[in-house]
Amino acid sequence: MKAQATEFDLIGRYFKRPVPQGMLGGGDDCALFSVPPGRQVATSTDLLLEGRHFFSDVDPRSLGHKALAVNLSDLAAMGAKPIGCLLGLGLPGIDTDWIEKFADGFYALANEYDCPLIGGDTTRSLQGITLSVTVFGSVDPLHTMQRSTARIEDEIWISGHLGAADIACRMLAGEIPSDPELLKIIRYALELPKPRVALGLALSPHAHAAIDVSDGLLQDLSHILQASGCGAQINETALPIHPALLSLPAPLLRQAMLAGGDLYELCFTAPVSAHAAIQNIGRVLNIPLTPIGKTTLHTGLQVVDHAGHMLTDLPAGFDHFRT
Ligand code: ADP
Ligand code: MG
Repeated sequence: MKAQATEFDLIGRYFKRPVPQGMLGGGDDCALFSVPPGRQVATSTDLLLEGRHFFSDVDPRSLGHKALAVNLSDLAAMGAKPIGCLLGLGLPGIDTDWIEKFADGFYALANEYDCPLIGGDTTRSLQGITLSVTVFGSVDPLHTMQRSTARIEDEIWISGHLGAADIACRMLAGEIPSDPELLKIIRYALELPKPRVALGLALSPHAHAAIDVSDGLLQDLSHILQASGCGAQINETALPIHPALLSLPAPLLRQAMLAGGDLYELCFTAPVSAHAAIQNIGRVLNIPLTPIGKTTLHTGLQVVDHAGHMLTDLPAGFDHFRT
């Protein structure tokens, strides 16, 4: 009879690959790494639960990608350069085919972003898959883009396009009618988000505050406004809608653009004097960067439509504990 793989077989086979010189990776009680003098460590962790953050039948390779991508996105929003990551895995059983694909997706992104896996924990869960990834990065302490450092009269910018991940998620969940052709085009936005790490690094000397949009543009922007003690006015017509979505009904689009989560684009504020430098960063990195409004002395968040009218009943973003 073939022996059942153990926890240590699993780790050794799928989650132990060489790490860069000067680091100690998995296999000891702790991993070790250093940061250059004068830099600070940025660290963040995210949990992903089966049925809550991902569908049970999601492609494991995409899931491996996304588990790391959402964490790299937090580093990006802080202007941090990735150093390494830890992976906590709770699995209901050992499905080697699934684990191999998951590890492939995870490592592909880790290699692309120079963020080696340097340790983790693996355990059997009672039910469902739980993933916990922790990332470490390094920042120049003078150039971190914190939520509390927006200033009044800053321009507010968003990277990339809005709406695709939200619409894809709602189609897959059966909340809106599925359009298979459209889903084929926009599904990547939900399942294979590209963390904006290079953008975060390039912006950090220019931008005042930044956040990655995981829970919806308005909600995440509100975090910046609250922490910075200012308000904002957003122009709805300026919002960069994903081009594949243009034929969808306007109310659905408005909801997806203003409140759609799982986006992992950067929303940031910067002084008007940095406008040209920021446009140039977008050109060099080939990432659309769009000014969508301004921060204001008056607190509160207003969205103005094409006719200059303030929208009432703004859609709310995602909140795990909202009933
Ligand atoms: P400990 O008992 O000290 O917590 P473990 O037996 O849990 O150590 O893990 C053994 C080694 O394997 C550790 O170095 C740990 O970082 C690494 N490891 C465990 N699970 C994972 C994983 N999912 N991915 C990467 N490394 C892992
Ligand atoms: Mg352990």
